Amino acid sequence: MSTASVSLDLDNLWAYLKTHGDPEWERRPSYLRTAVPRLLEVFGTHGLTTTVFVVGADAERDDGAQAVADITAAGHEVGNHSYHHEPWLHRYTRDRLEAELARTEDALVAAGAPRPTGFRGPGYSVTQDLLELLAERGYRYDASTLPTWIGPLARAYHNRTAPSGGERDLFGGFARVRAPNAAYRWRVGTGLVELPVTTMPLLRVPIHGSYLLQLHQLSPRLARAYFSAALRLCRARCVQPSLLLHPTDVLGAAEAPGLEFFPGMAVPGARKVEFLGWVLGALRDHHFDVIGTGAHVDRLDAGLREHDTGLLARCGG
Ligand SMILES: [Zn+2]
Repeated sequence: MSTASVSLDLDNLWAYLKTHGDPEWERRPSYLRTAVPRLLEVFGTHGLTTTVFVVGADAERDDGAQAVADITAAGHEVGNHSYHHEPWLHRYTRDRLEAELARTEDALVAAGAPRPTGFRGPGYSVTQDLLELLAERGYRYDASTLPTWIGPLARAYHNRTAPSGGERDLFGGFARVRAPNAAYRWRVGTGLVELPVTTMPLLRVPIHGSYLLQLHQLSPRLARAYFSAALRLCRARCVQPSLLLHPTDVLGAAEAPGLEFFPGMAVPGARKVEFLGWVLGALRDHHFDVIGTGAHVDRLDAGLREHDTGLLARCGG
């Protein structure tokens, strides 16, 4: 049996509206009270322990703190997903980055989670400063990279659909396509592991939840065939997949007002829950042992402790 991991970025409604340039975000609309119980139910039904990356600003509010407590009580790992969820972290000064990390850590701990040891940035970008800070603060892994060539396309789409006030410097650059699709150890810092969000081996196209739902909106059969092909390729290429989910993967358009522009939002919530159940079942059907990202890093680390750098996932691992 090979290992796969599932993680969820608990991006709230206000965070999407903010990135999209919709001034409504300042009222901080939230769908956490709807999304979190639904997600925990799906994970519970599948007997799955995952990792949930939580935004600090949400963990400081009542519904977010409750979410952190419920996620922790259900046995899932809680990771740091920055404080303000600004996909332009690469422009922050080192002091500001450190404040983002520290304030989120404090909010997560105050809400009842253990101090986080995993980080995922909000815009698939990592910098030297960020990696050094994570290592200094005792993190074991970063999970911020998405090794795809589709980033520039996503940016073009975003720039075309976002209002003129929206943010224009998103989704990484062309260099990302050469980044590894399997876990590796950064040279900076002391042993920090990078666990990329897996993309389709060879083709390097996304296979995360919202992308699958975009296909599902076109054709449920196509979405299933696509994900099955991705899992077969992962097995053939010895890639241990790390699948990324979002709350919008279980919410219908009426439950996320203002996000109608978002891919896959025409699919009703109940349909999405059913499809997510199929996705999680497919991982098992392809003989993957499905765990959270922190546990995934533990396993990779235990297997290859003698290697200082280089890819951590190998065939038979
Ligand atoms: Zn996010």
